[in-house]
Amino acid sequence: MEDYRANAIEKQNYTELEHGYVGLFDRPRFERGSTISCAWPFSALYAASPEKRRKKLQTKTNPNKKITPLPLPICHCNPLVREILLLFPRRIGSFLLEHFSQILRHCSWILEMVAQEEEFTVDLNKPLVFQVGHLGEQYQEWVHQPIVSKEGPRFFGNNVLEFLTRTKWYAVPLIWLPVVFWLLTTSLRMGHRLSDVALMAALGILIWTLVEYVLHRFLFHINTNSYWANTAHYLLHGCHHKHPMDGLRLVFPPAATAILCIPFWNLVGLFTTASTTPAVFGGGLLGYVMYDCTHYYLHHGQPSHDPAKHLKKYHLNHHFRIQDKGFGITSSLWDIVFGTLPPQISAKKA
Ligand SMILES: [Zn+2]
Ligand SMILES: [Zn+2]
Ligand SMILES: [Zn+2]
Repeated sequence: MEDYRANAIEKQNYTELEHGYVGLFDRPRFERGSTISCAWPFSALYAASPEKRRKKLQTKTNPNKKITPLPLPICHCNPLVREILLLFPRRIGSFLLEHFSQILRHCSWILEMVAQEEEFTVDLNKPLVFQVGHLGEQYQEWVHQPIVSKEGPRFFGNNVLEFLTRTKWYAVPLIWLPVVFWLLTTSLRMGHRLSDVALMAALGILIWTLVEYVLHRFLFHINTNSYWANTAHYLLHGCHHKHPMDGLRLVFPPAATAILCIPFWNLVGLFTTASTTPAVFGGGLLGYVMYDCTHYYLHHGQPSHDPAKHLKKYHLNHHFRIQDKGFGITSSLWDIVFGTLPPQISAKKA
């Protein structure tokens, strides 16, 4: 065995031996009747006494030879990682060590984070989006404990992504009302009378109120507990429940709306004719614009008269009292139909 090693050392620059890295090819594993069958005690031995090894090495090879250390010495890394690396041929193993030490470090960091799930706490001063998933089973409870401050949290470390999460409320009518106008006039140009188009648009608005209810109840309040599901929920609606007064994370970002328009357009197309689709869809889009503006007003406006005053009470009840009731925002119509009206007592209190 010693001869084998000495020969190998002469052929290669064994910097990794310096740090206790011994690959499969260093082992007399092809010897019959060898007692060394498992990598663990072997690597442990080498990792334990780097000083001894160096002396041994230097007497066997040129004592003046300089030995350059690896970026992440294997004797310093996780024993499990070391054992995994020892499963590779030496060249591959040392390559992995040299070039992917950073990645290995990140991998162990991620593993630690996942293991920490039970006692994970969110640092509100750091970007939130990639943190909240770690809350696991505790996420839903955390996200429904609101922080009432006008100042919103940071979502992403990246400035471009962060910019995309901030939407001023007036961007919604500014961008979508011209589209609504264009859609309605398209149906007019296709030969429908104004009164018919108005009727189709009204139907679109009615359909929207149902879509609003269904989305809010079943998608925005879906129960999540895994990392990515929590993260998605936070971006979609969780952020609004955590920071209800964050005025820049209240309305839907136009880029996301534009993407969602495609499936909704096709859905409307299934039930309408080519000339009525624009008017009905335009009505739905108008309903959406009214919903987002109303929602913003309910949080940031001070209505003194009904029905807005009542709607504000109704929606704040959804935020601060019973979060699994009162999903309607522009009206309580579908809450009445589907029986999710909040109980009378808390409605009176609010
Ligand atoms: Zn909600
Ligand atoms: Zn919620
Ligand atoms: Zn709200």
